Amino acid sequence: MNRPRASTWDDPRDVVAAKRDGHEVPGEALRSFVLGYARGEIPDYLAAAFLMAVFVNGLSRRETAELTRAMVASGSTLPLSGVTRPKVDKHSTGGVADGVTLVFAPLAASLGLAVAKLSGRGLGHTGGTLDKLESIPGFRTQLSLEELERQVEAIGCAVVGQSKDLVPADGALYALRDATATVPSVPLIASSVMSKKLAVETDLILLDVKAGSGAFMKTPDEAAELAEACVQLAAEWGRRARAAVTDMSQPLGRAIGNALEIVEAVGILRGEERGPLRDLAVAFAAEAVAILHGRELSDARAAAEEALDAGRAAESFARMVHAQGGDPNVVDDPWNVLPAAPVRLELAVPGSNLRYFEAADAEALGRAAMWLGAGRVRKGDPIDPAVGIELLAKVGDEVQVGETIAVIHARDKDRAQACAGLVLDAVRLSDEPVPIRPLIHGWHQASEGSP
Ligand code: URA
Repeated sequence: MNRPRASTWDDPRDVVAAKRDGHEVPGEALRSFVLGYARGEIPDYLAAAFLMAVFVNGLSRRETAELTRAMVASGSTLPLSGVTRPKVDKHSTGGVADGVTLVFAPLAASLGLAVAKLSGRGLGHTGGTLDKLESIPGFRTQLSLEELERQVEAIGCAVVGQSKDLVPADGALYALRDATATVPSVPLIASSVMSKKLAVETDLILLDVKAGSGAFMKTPDEAAELAEACVQLAAEWGRRARAAVTDMSQPLGRAIGNALEIVEAVGILRGEERGPLRDLAVAFAAEAVAILHGRELSDARAAAEEALDAGRAAESFARMVHAQGGDPNVVDDPWNVLPAAPVRLELAVPGSNLRYFEAADAEALGRAAMWLGAGRVRKGDPIDPAVGIELLAKVGDEVQVGETIAVIHARDKDRAQACAGLVLDAVRLSDEPVPIRPLIHGWHQASEGSP
């Protein structure tokens, strides 16, 4: 990219014009634009024009790093200096039935690692870990910094809401991106995700970059580009990061909905349930143990599987729930603790031939669960923790006519019936066998010689 016409960069419109015309913006100008917006000195209309120009023309690697640096500088950081265990953070770019954090955090804790996880709420078709945990009555997601550090040191994990002081520029810019259709841009997502990860001092950052119908990145190639941008940013910061591109062409777990996802996570933590959600949580935990404890990946994987099967990860989860004010009996008898929806409607495979499960549109299913009340259209909307959808088949499964493939948990019969139509529209069956997609398309780390 060429330098634009001579500019003093005093006027924020120069930054917008440079990006509109595909020129590079000097670091200092980008920084004062972002910090000015975070302080409320730059109006939404200028920031919106900047975002659209970036969406269309992109950012150079240097600009992406500068933008990330400015976002981190907009707020405070979390040193976690009171935590002596090796610290790992894990972040997902967002998906449907994505309960990996619910399993990963206590699993990693049971393996001797520390996870201080700052999570978000669900928006649109994607769920949020905080909403899921708050379906456990009494569970507190706001802890002071001292409480957070003490809990992570003692138990190994805590999942809390992000403080408003941490990367406030991302909060402001993300809301504007959401309102201006500028979310799915590689440099904007990379700087948004990594600013939040770099503001917390950890020994390893693991990224779950989703690809498919339920994700921002619709193809594995687009997701790989985002994964590369994220690990490069970490390397430029001198931080260790690994990113996996994972499948989000169908819901990851069985349950879509807050209490339902806790029930599923508990089943996995108790070693009782198998499937892609367990497999992905194990893959991330194994990666963390291999890197931070210096073990062979195959040993680390076996240790993670064993921690689930022996119930040690479930014990860590119970301790975390108790420490954060929730009822730890959720681990022994989840339905005695969690809210249940009054209507349960089973959906059977239609037709008359033996069928194969060909596709399940993750975004459409996420929207169907949102429509039931499990998610929110706008930030701050209330949600219903009890409702949701269980999808019992995975792509490639053989299903019989009349077999139950989904269960809808709803407030009333009319909603359940209407949701059944949405679910049937979102799934496709075939008379031919269907190949199974890989769960992990590949791992990315910064290339040799990166700063
Ligand atoms: N998740 C984030 O934190 N930021 C984005 O821009 C997209 C997903």
